[in-house]
Amino acid sequence: MSKFPFWPAAIHVERCLTHRFSLRLPAPAILPCLALASPQLAWAAGNHGASMSQAGWLLAMLVTALWLQSRQRQRKARATLQDACLGLLEFNLPRQYVHGSVHTLQRLLGLPAHTRGMDCVRWLTLLHPEDRSGFSQLLQQPPQMPEAGYELRIRHHSGHWEWLEMSLQPAWRAGKVHRLTAICRVVTARKHSEAAMMRREQQFRTLVENSEDIIARYDLELHCLFINRSVVRFSDLPLEEHLGKTPREKGWTDEASTRFEMECRQLINNWEARSFELELYKNQQRHIFEIRLFPEFDSAGMLKTILSVDREVTASRQGERLLAEENAVLEMIAGNHPLPQTLNQICQMMESQQPRGMCSIMLLEEDGASLRFAAGLSLPPAYRKEVERVAVGPSAGSCGTSAHWKRTIVVDDIQQSPLWTHALHKAQPFGLRACWSTPIFSSDRRLLGTFATYYCEPRSPTPEDLALAHRSTHIIAIALQRHGHEKQLFRLATQDGLTELNNRRQFIELADREIERSRRNDGPLTVLMMDLDHFKDINDLHGHAQGDDVIRHFAQLCREVLRASDLCGRLGGEEFAAVLPDTRLEDALLVAERLRAAVAATRLPGGNGELGYTVSIGAAMRQPAESDIDEVLGRADKLLYQAKRTGRNRICSDLDILPADLPVSG
Ligand code: GH3
Ligand code: MG
Ligand code: MG
Repeated sequence: MSKFPFWPAAIHVERCLTHRFSLRLPAPAILPCLALASPQLAWAAGNHGASMSQAGWLLAMLVTALWLQSRQRQRKARATLQDACLGLLEFNLPRQYVHGSVHTLQRLLGLPAHTRGMDCVRWLTLLHPEDRSGFSQLLQQPPQMPEAGYELRIRHHSGHWEWLEMSLQPAWRAGKVHRLTAICRVVTARKHSEAAMMRREQQFRTLVENSEDIIARYDLELHCLFINRSVVRFSDLPLEEHLGKTPREKGWTDEASTRFEMECRQLINNWEARSFELELYKNQQRHIFEIRLFPEFDSAGMLKTILSVDREVTASRQGERLLAEENAVLEMIAGNHPLPQTLNQICQMMESQQPRGMCSIMLLEEDGASLRFAAGLSLPPAYRKEVERVAVGPSAGSCGTSAHWKRTIVVDDIQQSPLWTHALHKAQPFGLRACWSTPIFSSDRRLLGTFATYYCEPRSPTPEDLALAHRSTHIIAIALQRHGHEKQLFRLATQDGLTELNNRRQFIELADREIERSRRNDGPLTVLMMDLDHFKDINDLHGHAQGDDVIRHFAQLCREVLRASDLCGRLGGEEFAAVLPDTRLEDALLVAERLRAAVAATRLPGGNGELGYTVSIGAAMRQPAESDIDEVLGRADKLLYQAKRTGRNRICSDLDILPADLPVSG
């Protein structure tokens, strides 16, 4: 018994049985296997002296053990197949019949429990129309080698389509494939997610390709791996030439390249998205981009590439900047900053909108025949001097012509323009090549001046450039009108309307300052009080209007006789005063006398014949103790009264010994 080759024989039997059981053949099919194994066992038993009954027992025990083991394996295999959503189908090609495990047909495909198989024609009707002919062909010409990953759609019993993935195993008989064994897996969920992924990928590609933004992918050395079509709007390079190049190699400016590299380095270091702004140029046109960088990871979670989404924000950034700068200018205007300062600020604001442009503002002179340079610090100082004053005319450069025709004049090349023929020598030395000029109008359409932008290269304006220039002229007009109103208000508050001399309040205020200065410097200062004689008679004789003319005439004489540094005012009616700083009484008396004499010599045309008039003057010099204009004015007034009293048409001063009857001169 010890030498009985039980195990080799048992293994042989087990193989036969396992094979049979695994194919789920009915129990009688085992018998041939036993028949095959029995002679071997009988031979082995005979050789080793065992009796046939012993061998029979052994065989029975072995068969039972193997059968149990096989059932267990089957159950395990079925459970494994079920767990893995796998099923088994067998296509019998000669019979054109498909046989499946209950699990496959029932669980995976939802077929009724009693279904064990079907003919291939019915099987094909269950397949999706698109997969039907392919599978039919496969049954006609079965694969000669095992084939994995064959996919088809089959209608589930409940009505929906299931995706099956098959591993096909051919079996031969007589040199022909007569059976295909298919391990089937339901992969519907995977296919759906693949389809969803493809849809997403497609959507992403559609988005990227149609995006206004530039979308690019860079490797970690910043070589471009992918870039969408949008880039050609902002770059001279053809699309494919971007690939493999770093931004620096693509010709970005040094500043932009350095910034981009620095931001990418930060992203590579901490794997976090970045957002920043860059300025790039195409055809000398500035483009501002908002750049967002996103890290992209591989399946192992390692940083692999950088996705860059670049959005052009030039218009909005320029708009924001313009708005901020406009506000600053408006604040300057409201805050009464000096006009030249405000106008230069406006030029600067426009230059920040038009890189490489140099702006200037010319103001129309009162005569309307010429323009005066008012602002534009970016232009060369020598050129500013050249155009300090330019004539208004039909071919007088850009600004002169613009003021003449009262419309925008675009000279895109000064050297070629007939408008610049006479002024070419002014612009040429400074390399100025283009000049666009826009007229500035007040709110009531009065021409105030011109706004111009110069370039050192021939250049035509875009519609945006023209709109911008137009917009700037509005602000300039506001500044000019505000300045004009301010001047007018000041005039109204400080000037006498009839004579345009200082009014009483202004005269006293300015005179006080002069007194203070004289006191500080211990310098001489003389005050004249002047009153027209018998003015009531002039009014009565010639009329009030004629009286006004006399008052205006006297004011004009004062302006002519007195120095520019002297101060003169109309204190009321036909009463005037003058402060002569740095003037001793003796010298002031000479001035007063000149004035008196000029008045006395005047003959004005009057309704009732010629009109003459005279003036009486009191002259007082500031005493060292006096620090108030009223004190000096008071003394001068007394002296005036004395002049009246002593005969009029005369000057009385501190030098006169009371009572003085004689005029100083005349
Ligand atoms: P006297 O030599 O003493 O100064 O004599 P007078 O006539 O000038 O005397 P008074 O100063 O009293 O008169 C001034 C007159 O001047 C009175 C007023 O009607 C007149 N007057 C005052 N303001 C104006 C003015 O703006 N226009 C005109 N036409 N007359 C004025
Ligand atoms: Mg008078
Ligand atoms: Mg008077």
